[in-house]
Amino acid sequence: DARQKGENQAGFFRKDIETKSSQKLKLKAELELAVLNKKFIPFYQPYVDKDKNIVGAEALLRWNKNGKILLPGKFLSILEDTSLIVDVESMVLNQVLGDFKTIKSYCKHLVPISVNLSIQSLMQKHLAQSLVSNLKYFGINEPFLRIEIIERSFFNDFNYIRRLIDELRQSSVHFAIDDFGTGYSSLSYLTKLNVEFLKIDISFVRGLSNTQTKNITKSIIYLAHSLNLKTIAEGVESMEQFEILKNMDCDYFQGYLFYKPLPKEEFFEIIKCKGGVL
Ligand code: C2E
Ligand code: MG
Ligand code: MG
Ligand code: MG
Repeated sequence: DARQKGENQAGFFRKDIETKSSQKLKLKAELELAVLNKKFIPFYQPYVDKDKNIVGAEALLRWNKNGKILLPGKFLSILEDTSLIVDVESMVLNQVLGDFKTIKSYCKHLVPISVNLSIQSLMQKHLAQSLVSNLKYFGINEPFLRIEIIERSFFNDFNYIRRLIDELRQSSVHFAIDDFGTGYSSLSYLTKLNVEFLKIDISFVRGLSNTQTKNITKSIIYLAHSLNLKTIAEGVESMEQFEILKNMDCDYFQGYLFYKPLPKEEFFEIIKCKGGVL
């Protein structure tokens, strides 16, 4: 009867939830093991200027799970829910700093690398100190490292983040606001932060065929320039998008139209041929 059916259904859903949460537990255990075995690596996605010269690259987190490369979408939220993200990001950061000498040796001009840092890593007590000592350890005096921070991280503890940026800028670390335009923030905070880049979120680039989105994008670029910030457009996939963004005077461009995120050996090969211009 109906009641019995309802109970069966409830039972079915409960089982579904149990399966989901046990899958999550399994993934969490696998991630803990992967942290111990250092199975996280950066892929590098170059970004370019208007003439398609490589002017930098973003280090994007990948999980090497028995030779299968997994994207952040599969596991980042679990890393962030646990404190594992801090270990993973410091692992990736050190690999990036370790690649400095190679990158430098392949290029006429420096190709700076950006890393994405979560709020958990940014809030680590001795982040600035340990970063500065790691830069020294790897012999990095030039402006090689850029840190990408998503908009909403700034509001966790605005004054703390502001001071952190000021402190690290003294050691030639630069900052970008990532996924700009997706938070619900007031714009006045931009004038208070010593950042250099603003990354225009992929959703604006995707929406460029829409007049309103196009106008907003144009305003973002204008705003950035009036505050002396450079703009990097994310997710540029077509020539049309590239042309429109160039006409809006966007500074730099990142997306599949130019380069996909690459394993470091492939990235090295590319910069070996193209050099770096800045
Ligand atoms: P993000 O920082 O905005 O990075 C750009 C994302 O867009 C990357 O996805 C990149 O592969 C993708 N992308 C680049 N060009 C194109 C394009 O032309 N079309 C499309 N559709 N996508 C493009 P990915 O590597 O899957 O990373 C996703 C997000 O995960 C990143 O977005 C970032 O928020 C986060 N993430 C990656 N690495 C780290 C990390 O080390 N720490 C933290 N906290 N977050 C990270
Ligand atoms: Mg990013
Ligand atoms: Mg982004
Ligand atoms: Mg994004």
